[in-house]
Amino acid sequence: MTTRIHRWALAVCAAGLLTGCSTAVATGTAPPAPPAPRPSPTVKPTSARPIPISYPARGSARWMVAPAGTRTAGTGGRLMRYRVVVEREIKGVPAAGFAAAVGTILSDPRGWTAGGQWRFERVGPGEPSDFTLYLATPGTRGELCGDLSDGYTSCRNGAKVVLNVARWTGGVPGYQGKLGTYRQYMVNHEVGHRLGHGHELCPAPGALAPVMLQQTLGLHGCRPNAWPYPDGTLYQGPSGQYPAQIP
Ligand SMILES: [Zn+2]
Repeated sequence: MTTRIHRWALAVCAAGLLTGCSTAVATGTAPPAPPAPRPSPTVKPTSARPIPISYPARGSARWMVAPAGTRTAGTGGRLMRYRVVVEREIKGVPAAGFAAAVGTILSDPRGWTAGGQWRFERVGPGEPSDFTLYLATPGTRGELCGDLSDGYTSCRNGAKVVLNVARWTGGVPGYQGKLGTYRQYMVNHEVGHRLGHGHELCPAPGALAPVMLQQTLGLHGCRPNAWPYPDGTLYQGPSGQYPAQIP
């Protein structure tokens, strides 16, 4: 619980939404670990504590580039080569680990490869690519997306697929307790834009949210959904988008 609260506070600090954040948090210094509780003989030890993620409100726009992947996702269709980079000041998210998480999402049978139209291959530093997937601080996200007023959402801008580390770390209210699912959504939504998909609406109250619905800004009566092919067939809503209210 301590970690979750810390991450939430950190995300809020980094997004500039909360005054009075401590200097240590705002500059991205990892907090001191609390003393580990002594496990009682009747309680199984819990899994290892995740490494806290920290980042400044705005990084240097210098990048750690993940190495090339070893497998191509998908079995047919156009090959999309992509690079994965993590802004240097983001601590607790190694580029290789982030790239592995992205690769798992892109190769999932519920993902964009399911229709047989697309394959994905991660290239390494200096290799040609069809897009770059960034994990960026909120401030650098504004630069890459061409909208400095928005430090909250993620975006796709040309060949730049930009994930905001504040959302990767803190999620959104509509995905309370489902950070892993929200991360899958972030990747699939922004990559979906790169594949030519626009925004979609919630088709009916209580229905699954289409992955191209702007779920970061609200679910509009739908249920969270991270996948374009949640049950093996392409799941879409009507084209369109709701008035955006950036927190
Ligand atoms: Zn979008």
